Amino acid sequence: MRLSRYFMPILKENPKEAEIVSHRLMLRAGMIRQQSQGIYSWLPLGKRVLDKVNKIIREEQNRAGAIELSMPTLQSAELWQESGRYDDYGKEMLRIKDRQERPMLYGPTNEEMITDIFRASVKSYKNLPLNLYHIQLKFRDEIRPRFGTMRSREFLMKDAYSFDLTKEGALHSYNKMFVAYLRTFARLGVRAIPMRADTGPIGGNHSHEFIILADTGESEVFSHRSFTEFEIPSENTDFDDVAGLQAIFDKWTSVYAATSEMHDEAAFTAIPDADRLSARGIEVGHIFYFGTKYSEPMGAKVQGPDGKEHLVHMGSYGIGPTRLVPAIIEASHDENGIIWPASVAPFDAMVITMKAGDEACDRVCDSLYAGLTKAGKDVLYDDTDDRAGTKFATADLIGVPVQMIVGPRSAATGEVEVKDRKTGARETMTVEAALNRLT
Ligand code: ATP
Ligand code: MG
Ligand code: MG
Ligand code: MG
Repeated sequence: MRLSRYFMPILKENPKEAEIVSHRLMLRAGMIRQQSQGIYSWLPLGKRVLDKVNKIIREEQNRAGAIELSMPTLQSAELWQESGRYDDYGKEMLRIKDRQERPMLYGPTNEEMITDIFRASVKSYKNLPLNLYHIQLKFRDEIRPRFGTMRSREFLMKDAYSFDLTKEGALHSYNKMFVAYLRTFARLGVRAIPMRADTGPIGGNHSHEFIILADTGESEVFSHRSFTEFEIPSENTDFDDVAGLQAIFDKWTSVYAATSEMHDEAAFTAIPDADRLSARGIEVGHIFYFGTKYSEPMGAKVQGPDGKEHLVHMGSYGIGPTRLVPAIIEASHDENGIIWPASVAPFDAMVITMKAGDEACDRVCDSLYAGLTKAGKDVLYDDTDDRAGTKFATADLIGVPVQMIVGPRSAATGEVEVKDRKTGARETMTVEAALNRLT
């Protein structure tokens, strides 16, 4: 992608409305634009990051055996009347009437709809376990939308729903998602700690929130420090190994970690002082086991091996991609801008010419661009004739991991300066060496 033909509306000034660093940087880097309160467009640079986040989420959901589908954003109120949540949900639910005066709503979550899909076609235990997910917009009329896409009204959620014949089966399904979440967050370059959590309006009795520690987080959390030592389950994890997954779950829940709603002061004070962590955090994922809370009122039953009808045991599993992007920035930035983990960077590398139109510069930039593109890398080529200072500031602001800076003098000898965004280290090398570094 040539910067001269790209759409990346950089802001020079610090936007006044942004209270936290991720919001400020997302606006300045031209990643998002607010359209109305708590409702955002994702501009090209932001969309690239969001797509990479979603791709990792998808890969890990699929690896754990979940199956993707797509459900609509608009739902009929009838389903929610069946579960009893239509009246309970309150003002966070955006209620709409269609031209026939039928009550509709913009879905804040999808337990009812997925239960409806399930009950229409699954009749036998032989089709279980089943886990269906989608990545779809949700709407919650938050009382205080703020911090950009961190707490917006319209936001993206990956929500998965599991169906099992028994409670034991459902807890294994829960463990699959627990492990998938550990892997997902690690691949996104962040450390999210699973903490015992309240179940809120989704309801149920077994639940964990995945929390990224950050001073700007809205949740108050309490935990043991030892989480940094736990190993992330490998990509070869056997998701059908019931005991193996249980062992991972047991390990990760063996030390104290709880959100304020579930906090047990006595258990916390029993932890030695030096290991006690009382901090703020960002909820980026939340998983629930809630048994027959929806299958019962909505009549989702299957025939068991005993020939009798059984209500299915369900769980639901959410991740917020549009919250994760700012959460990653909160965890990874410096005074000059964003520092993307390689896995979600909008581009793998940036090629920057210091003199557009100079024959040697153009030649070196072109060969870098062609070589990287051929190797399947996403490259942003700053081919503009902006001032050097502006170019460097933009490159640091948007946080692409590797910058390849091509000036007339080094270009004349076929060389390029390679800068690591994270460490700031610069090194001059041949075009071949620069290409080898990335490919
Ligand atoms: P919060 O406590 O922040 O209001 P929640 O507990 O209401 O979140 P869940 O119902 O557990 O949210 O939804 C699953 C995930 O969806 C959350 O863990 C979060 O990552 C994301 N999410 C929820 N609300 C928002 C929002 N307003 N903006 C962006 N992401 C959100
Ligand atoms: Mg909420
Ligand atoms: Mg919450
Ligand atoms: Mg939650």
